Amino acid sequence: MRRCSVCVLPENFPGITIDQDGVCSLCRDFTARHPPAPSARLTDTLWSLLADAKARNHRYDAVVAFSGGKDSSYLLHLLASRFGLRLLAVTFDNGFVSSACFANMRNVVSALAVDHIVVRHRQDHMNAIFLESALSRVFPDHLTRFGSGVCIACIRIVITTMLRIAIEKNVPMVMLGNTPGQVLTSDEELIFKDNVIPLPLRRQLFARLAERTGPWAYDYLTLSAVEYKTRPFPWIVSPLPIVGYDENEIYRVLPDLGWSKPTDVDPSSTNCRLNAFGIIRHKNLYRFHPYDYEMSQLVRLGVLTREAALDKLNDHDDTVVDVASAVERDLMCRSCSRCGPGA
Ligand SMILES: [Zn+2]
Repeated sequence: MRRCSVCVLPENFPGITIDQDGVCSLCRDFTARHPPAPSARLTDTLWSLLADAKARNHRYDAVVAFSGGKDSSYLLHLLASRFGLRLLAVTFDNGFVSSACFANMRNVVSALAVDHIVVRHRQDHMNAIFLESALSRVFPDHLTRFGSGVCIACIRIVITTMLRIAIEKNVPMVMLGNTPGQVLTSDEELIFKDNVIPLPLRRQLFARLAERTGPWAYDYLTLSAVEYKTRPFPWIVSPLPIVGYDENEIYRVLPDLGWSKPTDVDPSSTNCRLNAFGIIRHKNLYRFHPYDYEMSQLVRLGVLTREAALDKLNDHDDTVVDVASAVERDLMCRSCSRCGPGA
């Protein structure tokens, strides 16, 4: 398959063209649209949000979406040790978090002396959402360009869960460990309020999924109308691309917190076994890799070399297939009538 000679996007990636020099349209437009460093305005906004939160002198300054993966573990360290924030780490356990990852979580929150909550929603509901998200085209194309169906659903459940807890506990912001490659369209995504999108539009994104699973799916994927009207509404902040993302620095710091790389996940995840299943199914459905965009963006930003990105997209590694098959068997089994919740 032909890929852009500058980044790694394949020629069949939706919405792009590759010119006679082998360069994709995103790379051609890149310098014009993206300044190389986050704007000073964003850095100023981040500092003023942190100062405001500290000045409130409440129990928590921020809820941190803590997956136990490398990025959110590093984020927790950055916010607690370097910025001195009072944090509530919240983990959404989707039922497929690696057991080594739970050990990492315990070590990290204990090293940083941070309060930690693990949230588990009904697993039968989660399994139904993940299966439908992986097996059929339930999401609009502008979302599936950027990630697998299971990741889209899971990230949305994470955001809804974090906002709900922040609203309940009167915490002014939710912090996410997004990398610069996970910033999809513009820097506006780094600090924003999720309720800028009207609730009916938000629900529409999940209509096809809810049709297949049941209307209860909306409760996990979107806030309620009452929650949407909360004022002040919590900010969602992704600090890593603003303060500077450096994977080498992350891997240098994490061992001191007792964090080590789990071996029972695929190479592109450091915490979640569902990811491998999402990758394989996404490639079957859409014929491109769900990480194509993220990797290409990291190359454009100079965070990753093209060779390293290609290596990360290479799923010949048997672990991806092995983990994906184990997860698929588990998902199918847990939702069947013999041993599923209806049994
Ligand atoms: Zn390109």
